Amino acid sequence: MGINLLTTLFTKLEDYYPEMVEIRRYLHQHPELSFQEVNTANFIASYYEKLGVEVQRGVGGNGVVAKIQGNYPGKTIALRADFDALPIQDEKDVPYKSTVPGVMHACGHDGHTASLLVLAKVLHELKDELHGTYIMIHQHAEEYAPGGAASMIEAGCLEGVDVIFGTHLWASEPTGKIQYRTGPIMAAADRFVITVQGKGGHGAQPHKTKDSIVVGAQLVSNLQQIVSRRVSPVESAVVTVGSFVADNAFNVIADKAKLIGTVRTFNEDLRDFIADEIERIVKGTCIASDCSYSYEYIKGYPAVVNHKEETEYLVQLANDMEDIKVVEEAELQMGGEDFAYYLQHVKGTFFFTGAKPVGVEIAYPHHHPKFDIDEQALLVAAKTLLSAAINYK
Ligand code: MN
Repeated sequence: MGINLLTTLFTKLEDYYPEMVEIRRYLHQHPELSFQEVNTANFIASYYEKLGVEVQRGVGGNGVVAKIQGNYPGKTIALRADFDALPIQDEKDVPYKSTVPGVMHACGHDGHTASLLVLAKVLHELKDELHGTYIMIHQHAEEYAPGGAASMIEAGCLEGVDVIFGTHLWASEPTGKIQYRTGPIMAAADRFVITVQGKGGHGAQPHKTKDSIVVGAQLVSNLQQIVSRRVSPVESAVVTVGSFVADNAFNVIADKAKLIGTVRTFNEDLRDFIADEIERIVKGTCIASDCSYSYEYIKGYPAVVNHKEETEYLVQLANDMEDIKVVEEAELQMGGEDFAYYLQHVKGTFFFTGAKPVGVEIAYPHHHPKFDIDEQALLVAAKTLLSAAINYK
């Protein structure tokens, strides 16, 4: 591939930048929740149909997969963008704010989709000069486990794929910055539910009861020992109890307490170890208080683990790009992403594209009612993904 082709592709992307923004704003105004993205999927598929690009609808749910075949032989490269929104009321005061009450693109998936659509259009226009095959994976339902990635893979979206690249627009970092990481970059995000069954009764006669609130409180405290005393200090893990419900009158001893929490880890052994530790502590604490319990550990997405060679490859090409001013290693993120599943099947890397709105010091975080991005970052994301795709040997 010559330098000239890449320049031509970049110039086309720049020319189509207004369309990218237009698509992003349209999607922003018409967000749909995970597993309900019928219109968004239709919008994406129609875009490809109008271009005359081979496209498959209904892949593993609302997923859409498009394929562009270059003129010359080469690798098969997949690029992924997710397209679901969140159950959040848009509180921004902008002309493109969400028109759907209580639903909002508060994570930038609208931007991911707009970037990939226009990138695909550019690839399609120059396909006679391209090597290899390009698979555009438009994934539904990233925000809500079990997510869309696993079912799309099961439906065959990675068949014949050699490598996959994906990015997340990242509002905390300025436009022009790319953050990469070899190995784990985002955590496995799991959930646990504990029910302590005691024996309710009169608040004035505790000796005739088994107080589930006292046991629940011990549990919250005892669970802290897992990270502080059972996990090696050089490993990262989180055990958080986010909900503790034992609603009652002030003078009644609670019959039952329910605790719900999350566990975040970066490796599978530690993940299983913590799941078992929680149960051991629940069991022991309940035995000590003569209560019974139920315990459920629900696995969410696994950790996103980037492949070394592909990550180094990305760093190299990002360093050579004019639009990218800073390429730096990302900190480990305790948040989850179902891009993890693709990387369990094929080589690839997932990176962050800085997208901090212009003129703000600290951006509203992802999933915030006032979340927004710098649209210029869409172009950076598209260029980086495009360069990764066409240079891959
Ligand atoms: Mn996201």
